[in-house]
Amino acid sequence: MLRRTAFAVLAALAASPALAQPYPSKPINLIVPFSAGGPTDVMARIVGERMSKELGQQIVIDNVTGAAGSIAMGKLVRSAPDGYTIGIGHLGTNVVNGAIYKNLNYDLIEDLVPIALLPSNPLLVVTSTQVPAKDLKELVAYLNANADKVSGGTAGMGSGSHIGALAFFEVTGTKYQLVPYRGTGPAVQDLIANQIQIMIDQSSNSLPHIRAGKLKVYAVAAKQRTAAAPDIPTTAEAGFPGIEVTIWHGLWAPKGTPREIIDKLNAAAVATLKDPEVRRKLEDLGQDIPTPAQMQPAAFGAFQRAEFAKWKAIIDKAGVKVE
Ligand code: ASP
Repeated sequence: MLRRTAFAVLAALAASPALAQPYPSKPINLIVPFSAGGPTDVMARIVGERMSKELGQQIVIDNVTGAAGSIAMGKLVRSAPDGYTIGIGHLGTNVVNGAIYKNLNYDLIEDLVPIALLPSNPLLVVTSTQVPAKDLKELVAYLNANADKVSGGTAGMGSGSHIGALAFFEVTGTKYQLVPYRGTGPAVQDLIANQIQIMIDQSSNSLPHIRAGKLKVYAVAAKQRTAAAPDIPTTAEAGFPGIEVTIWHGLWAPKGTPREIIDKLNAAAVATLKDPEVRRKLEDLGQDIPTPAQMQPAAFGAFQRAEFAKWKAIIDKAGVKVE
């Protein structure tokens, strides 16, 4: 009897939170909504590697592709809210998709908890080296003359590259055929090979290829030039003001993830973006690094809601939707 009681006490103690393993006690799964080698994946690997040192546990990348990230976010929503599955996303996956996909069976804002805002980068207008235009005006003239022969890559409806293409169509009045990929990593390889001719692509994806002479660049779709490549004119300087889309990234967890875990992950992300080596790598790709205050879960959540209101209005007006 005595032995039984002692056993029961021990079992109860072992199950009590005081004796539970401190978080994180096993590897963390990081869902990435696009294919390996693209901008979201590269961000996940740079940030994830440093965060894992901070947390003392491995961060395992899980590329869940398709439908511009909405399959990945569905998987994240359905994951156990225990801090062992988190997701990286961006303006497209965690804002625009909520306005475009009419059949999502989850709510991107209500069913996920913000962990931290991550860096943002501008879109660049890039083509294969086979396209003969010398500047953006010549490119638009070329597209107008060859509309039926030109195609451009996107990471699916709602992705950053898709929103960029829509803004480009709207302002320039030109159009080309859009080809969806599971991420802009594979799309940019096809662009280099001239299988497709144009992309409105994140700087972090195309800058290395521009520097290597494998792609042509015409403009940065932002109000200001980027410090990573100050020679590239803005879209306004190149004659087409109004094509300005910045793709910010972020980390989320399923609703119900305990506050202490969110705070621990946030602290690891903040420490990561203070690391000079991480900053150098990201800045070299044209990424702007948010301040620790902007990265806080509450500030990030408010920012995401504001972005949602802004983009929902733009998308509803443009009538873009996937049933
Ligand atoms: N984030 C990219 C896009 O939205 C896709 C990717 O990361 O592969 O175009």
